[in-house]
Amino acid sequence: MTAPLPPLAEILDTVRVVSLPMGTRFRGIDRREAALVEGPEGWAEFSPFPEYDDAEAATWLAAAVDFAWSPQPPPHRASVPVNATMPAVAAGRVAEVLARFDGCRTVKVKVAERGQGLADDIARVRAVREAAGPEARVRVDANAGWNVDEAERALHALSEFDLEYAEQPCASVDELAELRRRLRDWDIPIAADESVRRASDPLLVARAEAADILVVKAQPLGGVRRALDIVAAAGLPAVVSSALDTSVGLAQGAALAAALPALDYDCGLGTAALLAADVAEPPLVAKGGAIPVGRVDPRPELLAEHRAAPEREEWWRERIARCHAALGARG
Ligand SMILES: [Mg+2]
Repeated sequence: MTAPLPPLAEILDTVRVVSLPMGTRFRGIDRREAALVEGPEGWAEFSPFPEYDDAEAATWLAAAVDFAWSPQPPPHRASVPVNATMPAVAAGRVAEVLARFDGCRTVKVKVAERGQGLADDIARVRAVREAAGPEARVRVDANAGWNVDEAERALHALSEFDLEYAEQPCASVDELAELRRRLRDWDIPIAADESVRRASDPLLVARAEAADILVVKAQPLGGVRRALDIVAAAGLPAVVSSALDTSVGLAQGAALAAALPALDYDCGLGTAALLAADVAEPPLVAKGGAIPVGRVDPRPELLAEHRAAPEREEWWRERIARCHAALGARG
């Protein structure tokens, strides 16, 4: 059951905007802004990246409203195994970053970073494999940074490190499908992320047989229920991930991961370790390779300490108002 859209004033009454420092530059940013809202069911996060337009951001608001105003589907598990996330750092920093992720048996390594080359990716993935050991699962995420030829060349070169899968190696569904055909004999599964969460039709990638695995995120897909529906309709195994959320947003990701009937892959929900500060104490970071499932309340003193500047707060409140209007128009 999804609750009807609450009036804008009811949402704005509870909004708290924070700006959190990152421990490591990631996705080109060194601060993460998020708006947090509180409804009858608890707190939720609204944190589409600033460059996203209102049409895209409105779906993130639908997710926040759903999580804070509606009871969530029942969990099938009390904790969710998570992966370590390795930003596009120099190989020499790999061990230091890995140490922030307690007990994680899986590492996701960012590759194809703008301004870097294949040699940087090989050095980073090699350092991860050496530090994490032969039993670790190592996956790479290119964030659509390669064309098909570049992806084929890079993944052949990286295959010596025994990859679990390659996430969004290319941008388009056609490219992913072509790459998947070319990699058929290499046993490197393809996971789709941006092709699911930023697509007008999140199921196209499954119909086109362009991926082996779906990466799903609760906020960009409009909430736990809608993400569950997409996974069920796609008929593919799913990995739940986050978008550099605070611990409040990660709790919604954990609710999605907990509600999936099957969870065969470790989830990208350990990313609180990349933040130098958070709104919850303790933050929702991995312990023994997993995070607990359950609601997370922000600490009032942390909300105050990390409160965004007044003009940023105003920017987020106006964005919420525009997105609320967009959702109202969707009906
Ligand atoms: Mg990704």
